[in-house]
Amino acid sequence: MQRYSVFAVARQALSQQMGWGQTWARAWADAAPKPRYDAIIVGAGGHGLATAYYLGRNFGITNVAILEKGWLGGGNTGRNTTIIRSNYLQDASAAIYEKSRSLYETLSQDLNMNVMFSPRGVMMLAQTEHEVRGYMRTAHANALQGVETRFIGPAEVKKLVPIIRLDGPRYPVLGALWQPRGGTARHDTVAWAYARACSDMGMDVIQNCEVTGITTDQGRVTGVETTRGAIACGKLGLVTAGHIGETARMAGFRLPVESLCLQALVSEPIKPAMDVVVMANTVHGYMSQSDKGEMVIGGGTDGFNNYTQRGSFHHIEETVRALIETFPMLSRLKMLRQWGGIVDMTGDRSPILSKTPVEGIFVNCGWGTGGFKAIPGSGWAMAELMAKGHSPLTEEFTMFRFREGRFIDESVAAGVAH
Ligand SMILES: Cc1cc2nc3c(=O)[nH]c(=O)nc-3n(C[C@H](O)[C@H](O)[C@H](O)COP(=O)(O)OP(=O)(O)OC[C@H]3O[C@@H](n4cnc5c(N)ncnc54)[C@H](O)[C@@H]3O)c2cc1C
Repeated sequence: MQRYSVFAVARQALSQQMGWGQTWARAWADAAPKPRYDAIIVGAGGHGLATAYYLGRNFGITNVAILEKGWLGGGNTGRNTTIIRSNYLQDASAAIYEKSRSLYETLSQDLNMNVMFSPRGVMMLAQTEHEVRGYMRTAHANALQGVETRFIGPAEVKKLVPIIRLDGPRYPVLGALWQPRGGTARHDTVAWAYARACSDMGMDVIQNCEVTGITTDQGRVTGVETTRGAIACGKLGLVTAGHIGETARMAGFRLPVESLCLQALVSEPIKPAMDVVVMANTVHGYMSQSDKGEMVIGGGTDGFNNYTQRGSFHHIEETVRALIETFPMLSRLKMLRQWGGIVDMTGDRSPILSKTPVEGIFVNCGWGTGGFKAIPGSGWAMAELMAKGHSPLTEEFTMFRFREGRFIDESVAAGVAH
């Protein structure tokens, strides 16, 4: 793989950065399907690509194809508001989300592509007494788990976010759960960087290749049917987020997941106004400022299951109205664009990384409104599960926990959609 570096950029500067197309290979090869792979991953979002990457990097399994029905990162991976944090309550969650956050710290170097990880700090506002108690409890739990967070008072909140209004009409700011090494990264570059590294290991990243069926023999997976023909495989990873219900149906089992549209919007770009990420769970909205200057705003999910990627105006209105209470300056901004993604929600708001009733099929889904932050950690853990049949990071996230009542309740940590 040709390596991106400051010297490469300097060399290209001599030709006004116009030479990349002529002298550099494509970031990833445009592969066509082979008849058989050791492992196939369905879904080239961040989680699918990261799973493939760590299968190769950590376990030497490189005869792998990643099949994507649309374009790379065109699902939720390229549609989210990019918040990265690991301040969850339960031990199993803290372990996988913190593994992920720590992998983000060096991801640009590991993958040799700048994913623009920006650990600018994430705060979750406490705007009711209930939230104060909840976040203090999380801060204590995080201290035991080795996750760096702390509860801060209103004065420190104001110091970190000068544009905030502390004495809003309905919900005053009583404090916040603060994670100083949380932050953001550039979402589509995360997908591109993993795809490039996978391609470099000889894996096939195949776009415009929809999986339409799954074939099995005596309870074991044998391959997939796709819009580009049948492909055999030894192991199969289903990583299709909002479409996971459909994909599981092809394999003959059901998952306790609902698909909903979650939406977000951005404002016109403005001068630097806020250099941390703020989430306001009670009024329901969250915001950060992109490097371009746009205020990136996340809203809620539709109140009914659906597969649209559009969103609805009443949600935009609700989100903006809620945020204006806490950030009055927003009322002067024009909103530029809005979009939606299909998120895969479980009842306990925790993901599923699991073996399935079909031997050789593994599933990675249920990240719902908060899986961007988990991409590296999830890929790491899922690869171990697929390669070895077990992983300490995935043990509690089995799909069978719903049958057995062993929920991993993260409804507070995931209380706001992000
Ligand atoms: C508006 C919005 C805001 C969000 N904000 C945040 C945030 O701030 N922080 C955070 O951590 N998370 C956030 N999330 C959640 C996060 O985006 C997702 O949890 C994460 O991106 C899921 O990644 P994935 O790889 O599992 O899914 P996806 O990126 O959706 O990838 C799944 C892929 O599977 C493909 N596929 C589906 N069916 C098939 C098939 N039959 N054959 C082949 N391919 C198929 C799809 O085309 C898709 O590309 C947000 C989500 C949305 C929608």
